[in-house]
Amino acid sequence: MIGYKHPCRYCDQLIPPQSNTCPHCGKINPLQLRCPQCRSPIQEDWKVCSSCGLALQIKCPQCGETTFFSDYCQHCDGRLAMVCSNRKCRKEQLPISGNCNQCGKPLKKLS
Ligand SMILES: [Zn+2]
Ligand SMILES: [Zn+2]
Ligand SMILES: [Zn+2]
Ligand SMILES: [Zn+2]
Repeated sequence: MIGYKHPCRYCDQLIPPQSNTCPHCGKINPLQLRCPQCRSPIQEDWKVCSSCGLALQIKCPQCGETTFFSDYCQHCDGRLAMVCSNRKCRKEQLPISGNCNQCGKPLKKLS
């Protein structure tokens, strides 16, 4: 499959198979949904990850609707990532536990 191009899930443009970001629309994980915790491939109708058991339905920090736990909200198309409230850390991440995966401080909305 090396060298084969695949369509982006978001914009349908053909992109290289190992793309982490679509060069056309700039979205993350354009080819394959992955579990935010263990990075195994997941599907949009799953309730939990088949590998690690992470719940795949979360409340969007932008619009408050329940959405599939991926990089973008299914309702408002906003990023589901949050940022660490610790000024020294500020790591951007998906809200798996509600606390920063680096320093353990609470996460807050991206501004
Ligand atoms: Zn795209
Ligand atoms: Zn997982
Ligand atoms: Zn939303
Ligand atoms: Zn942190």
